[in-house]
Amino acid sequence: TSFEEVQLTEIIKNNIASARYDTPTPVQKYAIPIIVGRRDVMACAQTGSGKTAAFLVPILNQMYERGPPQIAAHSRSRRKQYPLGLVLAPTRELATQIYDESKKFAYRSRVRPCVVYGGAHIAEQMRDLDRGCHLLVATPGRLLDMIDRGRIGLDYCQYLVLDEADRMLDMGFEVQIRRIVEKESMPRTGDRQTLMFSATFPSPIQMLARDFLDNYIFLAV
Ligand code: AMP
Repeated sequence: TSFEEVQLTEIIKNNIASARYDTPTPVQKYAIPIIVGRRDVMACAQTGSGKTAAFLVPILNQMYERGPPQIAAHSRSRRKQYPLGLVLAPTRELATQIYDESKKFAYRSRVRPCVVYGGAHIAEQMRDLDRGCHLLVATPGRLLDMIDRGRIGLDYCQYLVLDEADRMLDMGFEVQIRRIVEKESMPRTGDRQTLMFSATFPSPIQMLARDFLDNYIFLAV
């Protein structure tokens, strides 16, 4: 199996090749076509399985397919950014890894990824957001701070990813996650595409999946 078998746009294909990813990992092989097919997904996948590219590749592919006009319209608004995609991650380390990977796949595209996390200067992160943000990788607390400060609006969020959802719950982020996903400005379940990745699938995760996902496909790799 190769990445050539999935219908992907030229930019993303080139960036996958530049990253030297020849063969999709199992989670990539199964998740990418499902996500390109616009379905919600609950995937049980461990760190190291290639789960990051399993959600970044199809999301960026869809952003490129939808074309630059929509992306350009959103990036024109100064001070407040309206990301088209949001990835929530438990820690600064994971958020940074996802961001680094997103930069590889967004190379030479009009999609600008950003990352925000707690424990670092917020002013610097706000300056970076001001340069445009189409894909935002964030830890929950810092994202809420950015929303409260009027720097981020979720109104146009078409893609929502909860990465390492079980770890986010273990770290006590459930209230923050629910505050974010249930914001009035956030498109409803079904109006956005939602993807959850978790190493385990205990009942609190099943409840989140029930509340956030629409008619989802369950993947265990
Ligand atoms: P992840 O599970 O997303 O944290 O990925 C684990 C590591 O595998 C990262 O360093 C990725 O850059 C790398 N990786 C992911 N998918 C592939 C692939 N299809 N081919 C080669 N390396 C990959």
